[in-house]
Amino acid sequence: MKKRYFLIFLFNTLFFSAQDGQGFYQPSNSVCISPAQRQKIQQELDANRQLLKSQGKLSENKMLSHPLFIWPVTKNPNTKYNNVWSISNHVDHNLAYPNKVQDWNCGTRTYDTADGYNHQGIDIFTWPFGWYMMDNNQAQAVAAADGIIIGKDNGNFDRNCNFGNGDWNAVYIQHADGSVAWYGHLKNNSLTSKAIGSSVAAGEYLGIVGSSGNSTGPHLHFEVYNSNNQLVDTYTGSCNTWTSSNDSWWANQKPYVDPKINGIFTHSDTAVFDNGCGVQETTNFKDSFNTGEKVMVYMYFADLPVGKNINLKLIRPDNTIAYNNTFSNSAFYYASYWYFTFQSSQFNQYGKWKAMVTVDSQSDTHEFMYGANMGVANIKSSKILSVLNPVKNNQLQIISKNDFANGTTKMEIFSMDGKLILTRQIKIKSGVNIIDVNLQKEQLYIVKISDESISESFKINN
Ligand SMILES: [Zn+2]
Repeated sequence: MKKRYFLIFLFNTLFFSAQDGQGFYQPSNSVCISPAQRQKIQQELDANRQLLKSQGKLSENKMLSHPLFIWPVTKNPNTKYNNVWSISNHVDHNLAYPNKVQDWNCGTRTYDTADGYNHQGIDIFTWPFGWYMMDNNQAQAVAAADGIIIGKDNGNFDRNCNFGNGDWNAVYIQHADGSVAWYGHLKNNSLTSKAIGSSVAAGEYLGIVGSSGNSTGPHLHFEVYNSNNQLVDTYTGSCNTWTSSNDSWWANQKPYVDPKINGIFTHSDTAVFDNGCGVQETTNFKDSFNTGEKVMVYMYFADLPVGKNINLKLIRPDNTIAYNNTFSNSAFYYASYWYFTFQSSQFNQYGKWKAMVTVDSQSDTHEFMYGANMGVANIKSSKILSVLNPVKNNQLQIISKNDFANGTTKMEIFSMDGKLILTRQIKIKSGVNIIDVNLQKEQLYIVKISDESISESFKINN
């Protein structure tokens, strides 16, 4: 999995003066584990199994059917991605080599090597910003099924981007029927704290997707063995020669081409996807813009078919549409992006804007602030609240570091001579809160926000 980024084209559209561009991610392949490493792992797991069985911590019942998996990569719930992954490789069913490949769907989304290795698992890579995601613990490997941890490998370097490296970090889980799933290339020291012999539930955290071992970028290598320790392709398809055609290991087998919106974000400048081997990308994420600043809106996709319509909307704070453009995807990639650059003239309202992308029935929305003056004028400085000043369009923008208890926060607005002119119960949430007010233009006021525990005052210029 090597990262290659190409800018396909860059031009000025004839409408809306939005400049756009597109690019993609083309993973290349590495031998996720060498035959010697695989043998070593099998020996380690055998030894662990025997020990666990002797301790009464592990048993298996081959009469049970194999588990039905849930997807083994999820986003950290605290992130704003819509999805965090795409697939670069499946199992290779064509045992000839080199460059003789066939996946379960009779396609070539897999690889082999000149020395006879045929890919034995699924490579699920993280997108967009795999290194950034890894550094910020944003893409997690989770247990695809209930089971017992029968092996853990940790302590290995996790920023590789070529072949011939040492061991990976991994977690190995045995299911009730005796089948085993391998979760490889994890971030160093990110593994579940549970010990070998502990049980895990489907969906439970195992580690952060990383690039340890033979890996050229952050991805999860997911490899599965049945109760007889034979390699399994978990997908059913007419070219999966190893399992019966109606024996998928997935609770809901995902389609071969699985179009996804991975996210839509605003950026201050061009995102830099390749800063070199193992170096975090320069995301240039930005969610608050001053007057005069351009806004770059990036949409990130996985598996988007050629000709698929993509709709991008910019929605003003008053919910009117500022920009509405449907365009067609021009090429198929496992991972791709489109971006549009909007100049400041586009932003004729002050407040919380939305950028929304829609493809078929999927859509994703990103909120960002565009403001005339992000300066903050406080009577009393506050560690928990600030207010954007001057106020525009009769919309107070209160930025809070915390959620306040619902319904108990009081907002009072006073004229400069101390006369109370407005009292209202408001809800303050962490982040930017927009509160409509109806005040005279070009007047100074004092806003007081209070509940049982705090009392904060701000001077504003409407
Ligand atoms: Zn792999």
